[in-house]
Amino acid sequence: MLEEFENALGKGAVLSSAEAMAPYLSEWRGLFHGQALAVLRPSSTQAVSDAVRLAARHQLKIVPQGGNTGLVGGQIPDDAKAHIILSAERLSAIRKLDSDGNSITVEAGVVLERIQQAADAAERFFPLALGAQGSCQIGGNISTNAGGTGVLAYGNTRNLVLGLEVVLADGRIWNGLRALHKNNTGYDLKQLFIGGEGTLGFVTAAVLKLFPKPKGRQVAFMGFASPHAALATLNIAQGLAGSNLTGFELMPRIGVEFTIRHLEGARDPLQGSYPWYALVEISSGRSEEEAEALMLEAFQAASEKGHVADAALAASSSQQAEFWRMRHGLSEVQKHEGGSIKHDVSVPVSRMPDFIVEASAAVKAIIANCRPVAFGHLGDGNIHFNVSQPIGGDKEAFLAQWDRINTVVHDIVADYNGSVSAEHGIGRLKAKLMPQIKSDVELDLMRRVKQCLDPDGLFNPGALLPPEL
Ligand code: FAD
Repeated sequence: MLEEFENALGKGAVLSSAEAMAPYLSEWRGLFHGQALAVLRPSSTQAVSDAVRLAARHQLKIVPQGGNTGLVGGQIPDDAKAHIILSAERLSAIRKLDSDGNSITVEAGVVLERIQQAADAAERFFPLALGAQGSCQIGGNISTNAGGTGVLAYGNTRNLVLGLEVVLADGRIWNGLRALHKNNTGYDLKQLFIGGEGTLGFVTAAVLKLFPKPKGRQVAFMGFASPHAALATLNIAQGLAGSNLTGFELMPRIGVEFTIRHLEGARDPLQGSYPWYALVEISSGRSEEEAEALMLEAFQAASEKGHVADAALAASSSQQAEFWRMRHGLSEVQKHEGGSIKHDVSVPVSRMPDFIVEASAAVKAIIANCRPVAFGHLGDGNIHFNVSQPIGGDKEAFLAQWDRINTVVHDIVADYNGSVSAEHGIGRLKAKLMPQIKSDVELDLMRRVKQCLDPDGLFNPGALLPPEL
């Protein structure tokens, strides 16, 4: 069987030794470990199609994998051994960049950072940005409908995709690589695969939107007494800068301390210490001066009202990058503080500060010295409400409370009419929650879509939809 795959895909495209497969079988936090018969690494759309047909003939299940940075385990096969991992890593070509049309056509395995760089070199801007951008691939971003720090001004991945190319469960290639902004000719099929988490087909390429490159950018760290003060400042900044407000990322003091402790070169951004911080970014299509003037105006207006305690404006582009490095490093640095129980929640923006206060009190009522680390995209109403273990506590005993803490936090999310997965997806981690968070009608429609596109359950069994659904 492996020989058949190798004949179809070429030498080097099939990995089957335990050693070669190891990096594909667990993810960076070590939360998910899997098994597979082989890892297939096709280097063309046609080769993906051949691999899918062969897998179907041998009744193997396919787990699509991109950069393996997903946080809900959707890219790692479970323990059933009849799986193959279909990796996009060798689909790595940038097929076309159309500056006049503001679009770029890329294969699924292109690492996100490369797309940002290609856009930049062409005096354009690709706004999708997240902590894993040096490793995650655009196919994975599309399949998880990734959010990140640019959503505030540009929307999530769904808003950035113009067209897709997908290999379907029967091996057919759907070429929907259109660079059209308007196309009302029936169902918008690409939307099914965006956020489909590899359960409906394998994304092989995409046409993405590009934007004019901002001519000016100003980044500031601001300090606050409470998340309520941060929200008030967000509203003032949005009122003044509108869509020029391109970032507003909330961080608690403990998050800043974690980065200072564990991220090389990171320093306290402000002279004093504040319970809450926000990294604020304002861009301008005109000039550096305009971005800076808008930032100062926002800061002054918010401090006059008593919302902002202090602020540091980045003095150079390298300091801007340094501020962003601290923000993007937040996911990683928590690893060094022991066990961390994660939540990726959204609630209406205006209710986020109350949510943070209530959820923090609730988890501390269960584990007295646990350390909530609530950070992220305040402007999108999306916070990563993570809970680090008590200092010096037992990691395993703490992580054993995962479900209990999740339940308490998710119940509060439900009270606030929120979502228990704002941007990371469902994967294997949250599949069991689906009956609680989706109505019968929604689940029925999702199951029918799955049956229609993948009647034999070839793609990513156990992810997104639990098996009994
Ligand atoms: P993988 O992890 O390989 O796969 C993710 C899912 O997509 C799986 O279900 C997989 O089966 C499927 N898939 C992958 N490629 C394909 C394909 N070609 N066709 C079909 N299905 C496919 N996420 C956010 O949304 N916002 C953030 O701010 C954010 N920050 C992060 C910071 C860090 C430090 C880390 C480690 C992760 C972060 N993530 C964030 C999560 C993760 O980076 C995103 O979910 C990312 O989009 C996953 O891309 P990937 O290429 O690594 O996909």
